[in-house]
Amino acid sequence: MHSAVKIHPAVDGGLKPAAKGFAGGTLLCDCAENKVAVAIKGQCAHNHVCGCTKCWKPKGALFSQVAVVARENLSVKANGDKLAVVDSKATIQRHACKKCGVHMYGRIENKGHPLYGFDFIHTERSKEEGWAPPEFAAFVSSIIESGASPGNMGAVRARLKELKLEPYDCLSPPLMDAIATHMAKAAGVLRK
Ligand SMILES: [Zn+2]
Ligand SMILES: [Zn+2]
Repeated sequence: MHSAVKIHPAVDGGLKPAAKGFAGGTLLCDCAENKVAVAIKGQCAHNHVCGCTKCWKPKGALFSQVAVVARENLSVKANGDKLAVVDSKATIQRHACKKCGVHMYGRIENKGHPLYGFDFIHTERSKEEGWAPPEFAAFVSSIIESGASPGNMGAVRARLKELKLEPYDCLSPPLMDAIATHMAKAAGVLRK
């Protein structure tokens, strides 16, 4: 057992199952008052834990937890004036609360991008239970860039496997294939 290795509060106690017919929920920022509220219609997809340096992580977590939803299923319901884009040059425009720093959603504005049309969300910001749990771990080696000990990576990967979150150093093979297929079609290498 490698449960001493803490990955993310949403998975450290084991994965919670998705609820059948899950209707969605409301993501809230960390402010004590005037919370930014973002409503999500329906279930998320491709939930995973991510080790990259750009995704928002709860304090002390090694990984973020991040999923996607169709952009038409996401709407800012309250205190949207507190949101600002973290890095306007980044592919994913992460809209964060200026007061508490929580990223409320990430959006791709480049229509040619393979993941255009999806918004990135952190489902643990919602009180509703039944979100689809993470399926894999992305960009695992990148946690070193945030200060994690290189010597501890064996234990981190062992814990991820124990949680059935297969560790990858980019995205999962199905997602990498989907991105490459999109690029090949855009380049005319693949016809359909
Ligand atoms: Zn806030
Ligand atoms: Zn990430």
